[in-house]
Amino acid sequence: MSGEKSFDVLNKIFKPKKYEEIQNIKGYTIKYGFIVDNNEIIDEVLVSYFKAPKSYTTENMCEINTHGGNIIVRKILELCLKNGANLAEPGEFTKRAFLNGRIDLLQAESVIDIINSKSEKEVKTGIKQLEGNLSNKIKEIKQEILDVMVNVDVSIDYPEYDVEEVTNKQILDMLNNVQKKLENLEKSFDNGKLIKEGIKTAIIGKPNAGKSSLLNAILKEDRAIVTEYEGTTRDTIEEFVNIEGIPLKLIDTAGIREAKDEVEKIGISKSKEIAQNSDLLIAIFDSSKQLSEEDYEILDIIKDKKSIILLNKCDLNSILNENDEIFKKITKNIIKISALNGQGLEELYSTIEKMFNLNEINLDNDIIITNIRHKNLISNAIENVKKSKKTIEDNMPIDVVAIFIKDILEDLGNITGEVVTENIIKEIFSKFCLGK
Ligand code: GDP
Repeated sequence: MSGEKSFDVLNKIFKPKKYEEIQNIKGYTIKYGFIVDNNEIIDEVLVSYFKAPKSYTTENMCEINTHGGNIIVRKILELCLKNGANLAEPGEFTKRAFLNGRIDLLQAESVIDIINSKSEKEVKTGIKQLEGNLSNKIKEIKQEILDVMVNVDVSIDYPEYDVEEVTNKQILDMLNNVQKKLENLEKSFDNGKLIKEGIKTAIIGKPNAGKSSLLNAILKEDRAIVTEYEGTTRDTIEEFVNIEGIPLKLIDTAGIREAKDEVEKIGISKSKEIAQNSDLLIAIFDSSKQLSEEDYEILDIIKDKKSIILLNKCDLNSILNENDEIFKKITKNIIKISALNGQGLEELYSTIEKMFNLNEINLDNDIIITNIRHKNLISNAIENVKKSKKTIEDNMPIDVVAIFIKDILEDLGNITGEVVTENIIKEIFSKFCLGK
C-alpha cells in the first residue's frame, strides 16, 4: 500500500507481535505479526515499513508478505480494501513515483521494459535507463538548447547591438552540435530495436529442405531461452529465441510447423511476403540435391536482403557447396549445416552476431534507445533543429528561430515527461501490470 493513509489501513488489520507506535517505527523496518479480521487470524506475515519520502513512490508505504497462495492473498487484499484502501491501477506505484518526481518518465518506462524483458541485453539496457543514463543525456542536450535560447533572446532583446553576425554563427555551431548528439541517439535505435524486439528472422526454403528440422534444432538448443507469443497477424506464432545474447524473433514459425500436416506447404508468394517483413532471411537448401526451380526463386527472393544461405543435410553426400558461384554472388554468408545432427549451428549463430554487430554494442557505455516513443520525439527534435538552422541561414527574423527552438525543448521535455500530456501518461502506464 502506498499513500498518506496506508499505515492507518494497516493498523486496522495488522497485529504485530511487539506493538510500537507508528511514529516510533523507522523506515526500512520489518515487523512480524498477524493479519486479523475481527480478531480472527488470517495469516502470519511480515510487514515492511517505508516512510515518506524514502520509498518507491516517495509516499508512506508498507508491504505485507504473506504465505503464498491465491486465497490468503485475496483475502488480505479484500481486507485492505474493506478498511479504506483503493485497488491500484496498472503501473500506479511507478506512476506515483513519476508524478511525485522521484523518477522521470524515461525511468518509469524502463521499469516496464525491465519487467517485460526477454533477454539479458534488454534487461541491461533497461537497468541503464533506470539508472538515468538516457535522462542525463537528454538533460545535457536540453541544457545546450537552453544556451542557444539565451543567445537568441539576446538578439531579440538587444537588436540595437549589432552582434547578429557573430551570434548567428555561434547559434549555428551550437545547433550543429546538438544535431549530432541527437542523431547519435536516433541511430542507436537501430540496435535498440533489435535488442528489444529481436532480429526478425524468417526461415525459408522449398518443401523438405529442412525448415522445420532447423527450427526444432534452434528451439531445442540447451542455451536457448524461448518465449512464444502470438504474432502480429492472426493465427501466426512468433517465437523469441535468445541464444547467448543473440535475440532472434522467428517469424511465422506456425507456418513452418503447420506445413507438415498440410498438403500445401508455404508457397513462394507467401515466402515473398514474409521476406518483406524480416530483418534477416535464412534460406535453406537441400545440399544433397540439385537446385530446383523453386530454389532459384528463393535465391531471387533473398538476393537484395540481409540473408544467410544454409546448405543443409551436409551429413549426406553434397552436391551443392559453398564455393558455388550461384550462392557466392548473393551473399558471403554460406554455411554448411546438418539440421539433423546440429553441425554448423554454432557458425550460424556467430554469423548472425557478426552481421548485426551485436557484440560491438557496449551496453555499459553506449546509450541505446529502445523505445519507439523516444525515437519519434528525437526525430522530431532533429527536424526542428534543422528548421531552426534553415531560418538562420535564410536570415529570417530571429523570433522565428526562437519558435523552432522552443519546439525542440518541447520534444525533449516530452521524452523525460516534463511537458507530457495526461493522455500520454495514461497510455504509458496502462501497459504495466497491476500493482507495479
Ligand atoms: P521442411 O519441409 O523444409 O520443413 O523439411 P523438414 O525439416 O521436414 O525435413 C524434410 C526431411 O529431411 C525430413 O525427413 C528430415 O528428417 C530430413 N532432414 C532435415 N534436415 C536433415 C539433415 O540435416 N540431414 C538429413 N540426413 N536429413 C535431414
